[in-house]
Amino acid sequence: PTCELTYKNAKAVLCGSRRLGLIKYVMALMNGARLGIAAQSVGVSELAYREALAYARDRKQFGKAIIEFPAVYEMLSVMKAKLDASRSLLYACARYVDIYKIYDDLAKDRSLTPEERKESKYYSRLADALTPLAKGMGSEYCNQNAYDCIQIHGGSGFMKDYACERLYRDARITSIYEGTTQLQVVAAIRHVTTGTYLNLINEYNSEEIKPELQSLKDRLVAMTERYAKAVEAVTAVDDSAYGDFMARRLVEMAGVIVMSYLLLLDANRNENFKRSAEIYTNLAEAEVCKHADFIANFKPAEVEIYKVN
Ligand SMILES: Cc1cc2nc3c(=O)[nH]c(=O)nc-3n(C[C@H](O)[C@H](O)[C@H](O)COP(=O)(O)OP(=O)(O)OC[C@H]3O[C@@H](n4cnc5c(N)ncnc54)[C@H](O)[C@@H]3O)c2cc1C
Repeated sequence: PTCELTYKNAKAVLCGSRRLGLIKYVMALMNGARLGIAAQSVGVSELAYREALAYARDRKQFGKAIIEFPAVYEMLSVMKAKLDASRSLLYACARYVDIYKIYDDLAKDRSLTPEERKESKYYSRLADALTPLAKGMGSEYCNQNAYDCIQIHGGSGFMKDYACERLYRDARITSIYEGTTQLQVVAAIRHVTTGTYLNLINEYNSEEIKPELQSLKDRLVAMTERYAKAVEAVTAVDDSAYGDFMARRLVEMAGVIVMSYLLLLDANRNENFKRSAEIYTNLAEAEVCKHADFIANFKPAEVEIYKVN
């Protein structure tokens, strides 16, 4: 059971300093909790994939294991790619959090040098930018993987006989608590408009990669150009309702490109990631095209027809 708590005339002691409540303490608390839900989402996604894989190997229809049907193995491969992408994003985000927190700890004992302060600020900004992406997109992928896990189980997935039925309920809360996906977009959009994501993508792009991964990287460069153009087109219009209307599309474009780069860099270090990098890039490319086309073909005044009273 979940309920609201109300305190009346309760004795209270001020924790921390005045004026830092919302900006520093609440945001730090929220980002910490959101990273936790991003991790929970990856965990549920992983189990959804394992359950689906095991069932698809075991279940026979029309004389063969269902894993041999393209419709089923495509679902499984896309589940794995989303899982690997959301895990890579989670780890990247957690690394950035670790670095700036180390500087926070150091600053308790001595004052930081100007370079340390600069680096701390840089990683704190990246952590702030990647947390809503990891939570928002990781939880949506977790929901999609739980859905596909049930689909692969067919009618059995709907019953309580298999773990996937519970996984589906476990997944559903991840895109709601600690801020819904829509609120993650509200947190992420300023990193679209201020260029944090684009700068990070350009940094990832500057890393050397093996020649056999170059064609994948070229596709990511083309996706980034479409993203940058879409951001320019939306921000050029001085209309906050239109900006809010397009925000999720822009954040998702940034998210899929960041995750594609992370998987590319994973594949560069370890070839076990190559398959997911390729499959995820196919998915990401289609997402970027879909959103870029929608933005290019949409007139700001059309937002009106979506309004519901
Ligand atoms: C199982 C469970 C455990 C929970 N545990 C805790 C807990 O321990 N502590 C705690 O404090 N809370 C807890 N919560 C509350 C939880 O964090 C909130 O339910 C959640 O953040 C969503 O807020 P809300 O329910 O008020 O939805 P609302 O804010 O009313 O949202 C309703 C809809 O409107 C959309 N929406 C709202 N504002 C905007 C906006 N600005 N832009 C775009 N869309 C918007 C939302 O995305 C959503 O689709 C828990 C909830 C559940 C279900």
